[in-house]
Amino acid sequence: MSRLIRAVIDTRAMRSNLAAVRARAPGAHVMAVVKANAYGHGLVPAALALPDADAFAVARLEEGLALRAAGVTKAIVLLEGVFAAEQLLEAARHGFDIVVHDPFQIELLEEFSGQHRFVVWLKIDTGMNRLGFRPADFPVALARVRAMIPAPLEIRVLTHLARADDRDDVSNREQIARFNSAVGTLGFATSISNSAGLLSGAGIHADWVRPGLALYGVSPFADQTAKDLGLQPVMALESTVLTVRRVPKGETVGYSGVWRAPRDSLVAIVAAGYGDGLPRNLPSDTPVLVAGQRATIAGRVSMDMIAVDVSALPPVNVGDTVILWGEGLPVEEIARHAGTIPYELLCGVSQRVPIELR
Ligand SMILES: *Cc1c(COP(=O)(O)O)cnc(C)c1O
Repeated sequence: MSRLIRAVIDTRAMRSNLAAVRARAPGAHVMAVVKANAYGHGLVPAALALPDADAFAVARLEEGLALRAAGVTKAIVLLEGVFAAEQLLEAARHGFDIVVHDPFQIELLEEFSGQHRFVVWLKIDTGMNRLGFRPADFPVALARVRAMIPAPLEIRVLTHLARADDRDDVSNREQIARFNSAVGTLGFATSISNSAGLLSGAGIHADWVRPGLALYGVSPFADQTAKDLGLQPVMALESTVLTVRRVPKGETVGYSGVWRAPRDSLVAIVAAGYGDGLPRNLPSDTPVLVAGQRATIAGRVSMDMIAVDVSALPPVNVGDTVILWGEGLPVEEIARHAGTIPYELLCGVSQRVPIELR
């Protein structure tokens, strides 16, 4: 029996999106970014749905451990690296590839007494000012890593673009130029682009691309839809009509009475609220699909419920399916109503929402 609310994951769409990414970055290896519970899609199911990825990337050690526990044997990159000797030991035990972006992490590697030889991704900060060695500090960091015993199995280099979602922004070219001049002729494998970078063509000459959002079928650009980009949405956040009620003209619905019935109205109460990850700030003109028809939210999002004005719809029944986002209602559109980005909505789908693979 299907649950009141569920995140339905289309694994075939994920594979199709991976193929679309590969077509955009021909010849590049693909590190499928599955951090943050695969952007709400389920860490393990997402990884298992992408057997063709060349590696998986996660932010935290615990995410990598969960993948190994599920039997994932492929390369796993820890995008933030490790922060303590025992974490480095765990990374060695599970064969994780580690990003090294801070002198402290080089110290940890220098003090490492095991025999494991890591793949070390040295991160260069070319303008993001978040993680990484500034180009001027990179040679020293590199020399220290090269002098290590045991030597790394392989040294690779990466950077991250700050404005890849704006393809015309000059800073993309500047960052790539800084990266190229820092690593120029060293011959290391390289990685530059997230989804926006690789879809815009920035940095696809590098050896690896690091898509997250694109794999989930979402556009990183304001001016292009997923469809324009040949991507298919992966998640449908689906819920159920709990009851349908008549609301006489002039009465209000929900907390603080922010929605007032402009006429005698029919309101469907739907099992989805901020406890499921729906932003509380969604305004009353936010669309949802009730039994396939567009209607709008009526009043405040509660913890477990929303109200939807279905006055103009064909008869709505208890048990009807409601799409909060998914086919026919892109998460990009809901994000605009919430004043945020699709990443935040997807990552925000809460633990009580079961994931169903389709
Ligand atoms: C999260 C992340 C990505 C993936 O970004 P998308 O915009 O989702 O494609 C790539 N690289 C790094 C370093 C990241 O932290």
